[in-house]
Amino acid sequence: MLRRLIIPICLFAAAAAAQSPVNGQRVHRLLIHNATVVDGNGTPASGPKDILIEDNTIADVIALDPVSLARSGSRSGPPPDAVIDATGKYVLPGLINAHAHLQEERGGKPQPIEYELNLWLACGITTVRDVGSDTRRALQLRQQSAEGKIAAPRIFVYPMFGRPKDVQASVAHVRELKQMGADGIKILGIDRDTMEAMEKEAHSLGLRIAHHAGVEETNAWDDIRFGTTSIEHWYGIPDAAIPAGVQNFPASYNYNNETDRFRYAGHLWREADPERLTAVLKAMVDAHVAWDPTLDIYEASRDLQRAQTQPWFADYLHPTLEEYFRPNPSNHGSYFIGWTSTDETYWKENYRIWLAALRQFDRLGGLIGMGDDAGFIYQMYGFGFLRNFELEQEAGFHPIRIVQQATGNNAKILGQENKLGRVRAGWAADLIVVNGNPLENFKVLYPTGVDEIQGGKAVHTGGVEWTIKDGIPYHAPELLAKVKQMVAQARAHSTN
Ligand SMILES: [Zn+2]
Repeated sequence: MLRRLIIPICLFAAAAAAQSPVNGQRVHRLLIHNATVVDGNGTPASGPKDILIEDNTIADVIALDPVSLARSGSRSGPPPDAVIDATGKYVLPGLINAHAHLQEERGGKPQPIEYELNLWLACGITTVRDVGSDTRRALQLRQQSAEGKIAAPRIFVYPMFGRPKDVQASVAHVRELKQMGADGIKILGIDRDTMEAMEKEAHSLGLRIAHHAGVEETNAWDDIRFGTTSIEHWYGIPDAAIPAGVQNFPASYNYNNETDRFRYAGHLWREADPERLTAVLKAMVDAHVAWDPTLDIYEASRDLQRAQTQPWFADYLHPTLEEYFRPNPSNHGSYFIGWTSTDETYWKENYRIWLAALRQFDRLGGLIGMGDDAGFIYQMYGFGFLRNFELEQEAGFHPIRIVQQATGNNAKILGQENKLGRVRAGWAADLIVVNGNPLENFKVLYPTGVDEIQGGKAVHTGGVEWTIKDGIPYHAPELLAKVKQMVAQARAHSTN
């Protein structure tokens, strides 16, 4: 049980008359009162605390426990304009989704951007790193979000690099993206010489690099040599530890057949030699190459039925996305025609080795981030991100470390560690107020909530209550209600 310490300090007493904030409206001084705080730097929960937000900045974090109060006394100041009573609630830094795609269509059919943006906010995500979408549109949304004109997380734009034909074209393209205003670059399926040239140029221009290594010429050793910021997913890491230098593919294997590709990806970790793998992980740590594993996005491969029957699909799965998720060889990631129990068994083993490698990477000092890659393979925006918390727990990480991965670590990957990912005075006012203790049960983060027994009665609780981004408070249940309505309307008009 939580300690319910209500200590009347001047700030709060003066604010007794102040109202709750209004969804989407920033106030000059916003007080979050009596919260238990989990910071994004890997330290334990502490509280009760008051958090004072002034405009878009955390102005003060005030400890209210008796020992701290005896030391510092109560504080006073001008009364806040609005108060969130966080008694019995947890406050965390706003979540950062390091592997996101802004999607306004699926399979060529339009899908409203508000659907995705509202879901992200309702799931507590205040920042996304967009790693491949319509670049011009992403830059426009980034600006609208920064100006507070749309309800959206902060957006960092890492355009998809493509496959330049030679070194000159590679360098020219980096310069072009820099000029467009990109925050970084996402590479995928690239040749070694153009990768080396583009990374060199990107470093000189201050652009960070996210690498999704396909089965390609390059692997983690190239990321280590050339200075990639983060390896996305996991490909390229076991590949760098295969003694034969190539996975033992059957003769009939065709990389462009997605069923082949995902089926044999499930045999990849078992082929990595443990000693070589340790050397790869150590070298990644030494070269400061982070790892953003997107654990949720492969889960359908090990348990298709779970993926296809997620409870939030009932009210929140947009029909466009629903159609896109159906097995269909022409949609990326929709490869499940003929998916067998044997495939799932290989993938379960694949996950076990992968999760162990993540733990090892962490123990060696590696930086692990978190991202969802949602919009593919049965993963919904936001919900997919939160699923990562549970999968990291399955890997064996302490919940405090997992919160750190989703906040402080991702801020480091973005180069924003002096501004984002902390509950600390001077940092950006990106915070979430959660109904319940996520360190006890990460399921309380899902906006659909959890059922608990309280005082002998079953109650429905949980969910992020408030998502505060850049000082703007969003009431998550209101955002979720909007999504529900949007989905119901789209279904009514759907011809499926
Ligand atoms: Zn992706």
